[in-house]
Amino acid sequence: MPTKSMKPIHKPPKKKHKLPSNITVSIAFLEPVEEELQELLALIVKDYCRRFKAKITKNKVHISIAGIENSRAGPGTPIGMTIANYDNAGKEVNRILVQIRDPYLDDDVSSKHIYILFCFLQVICHEFVHVAQHLTGRLNGKTNNFDFIKYTKKRRDERYFFDPDEIEARLLETFYAYRYAFDLLVISEDILPEALLE
Ligand SMILES: [Zn+2]
Repeated sequence: MPTKSMKPIHKPPKKKHKLPSNITVSIAFLEPVEEELQELLALIVKDYCRRFKAKITKNKVHISIAGIENSRAGPGTPIGMTIANYDNAGKEVNRILVQIRDPYLDDDVSSKHIYILFCFLQVICHEFVHVAQHLTGRLNGKTNNFDFIKYTKKRRDERYFFDPDEIEARLLETFYAYRYAFDLLVISEDILPEALLE
């Protein structure tokens, strides 16, 4: 079992996917995965725009993505979080901060388990969908149509789980983990269950 967590096993595809030049990205993970995460984000934003016929803002936006320490996380602690800053009376996004709890900063060896890796990749993809939502303005149920589901707004858990933006992010997180993240960020091919490689 490798001691490191995310390590690219495939050579990155020849054609690099990049975000438009008005979008800048900085990445702070302990592992050297800057290129892979940049590419994953670009692939997800590109697919998201194509799928929903959405357009990326022309404004300058800086995205910071950080893998943060995990060991104090407990039930109810968010494992990923995306926060955005808007100017022009809340109309234009200009900064996006993505925080993802990195299980590989934890000394516990069980965090190397395949399911932890898969969950980690899903969380990364989930937060990147939120980034795509901010970059395209598809937020607050404006254009995503999940608001037909009834829920109790007074209850915090229902408010979170049935929020249209969250439903959309959960709908896409596994798909993006399968389609893009595994190829870019898996530990080693031999630990992947066959089903995941089909
Ligand atoms: Zn979310």
